Amino acid sequence: MMRIVLDAGHGGKDVGAVGNGLREKDLTLTIVKHIGRMLGEYEGVEVHYTRTDDRYLSLEERAAIANKLKADYFVSVHINAGGGTGFESYVYNGNVSAKTVAYQNVIHAEIMKAIGNVRDRGKKRANFAVLRKTKMAALLTENLFIDNASDAAKLKSEQFLLQIAHGHVQGIVKAFGLKKRAAASQTKTATTAKEKLYRVQVGAFADRKNAERLVEELKKKGYPAIIV
Ligand SMILES: [Zn+2]
Repeated sequence: MMRIVLDAGHGGKDVGAVGNGLREKDLTLTIVKHIGRMLGEYEGVEVHYTRTDDRYLSLEERAAIANKLKADYFVSVHINAGGGTGFESYVYNGNVSAKTVAYQNVIHAEIMKAIGNVRDRGKKRANFAVLRKTKMAALLTENLFIDNASDAAKLKSEQFLLQIAHGHVQGIVKAFGLKKRAAASQTKTATTAKEKLYRVQVGAFADRKNAERLVEELKKKGYPAIIV
């Protein structure tokens, strides 16, 4: 079982970057929730979040959540600002495992594939607190620029946010060799729901005509009656 912690950047009093009517803290939460839901289609993965609503968490708290869970991977999702365009990803610029770099290579490539015609700003390294303080392999993604009009127009599209999430998921799936759940286990919920349907018998008749008469009567009253 692979355990992943998804970290929606910012939150609560920390709105993150703002621009073009968008707030970083909202976008990161939406994307992270999409990633988590999509990962639910795969087996062998346990998804955790640092936050699932609009709340403030310090960078130390975010790392502590992942460390306490002994997570295998930590992904922090952000939106860029400061005049630029495109996508970039980060790992810690100190000592990192070979895995950390390998995962970044795979996930970065899958995100670029998923988001289409967006400038690739490259795979970078930086001394970001969540990357430094997390004990497991960790990645931070900067998904376009909120203060760039054309990037912001993309970020306003729900479809584009799904594409960003899809890229993260494809990358994580590839990096960790996750397999889609079998169709049988995906439909399990539906089957279980069906099994909990109760049938009500209204009458038993030797003459089919009497049964048909009762069905007509029930249908007139709005009941979906059938003859068994
Ligand atoms: Zn940020």
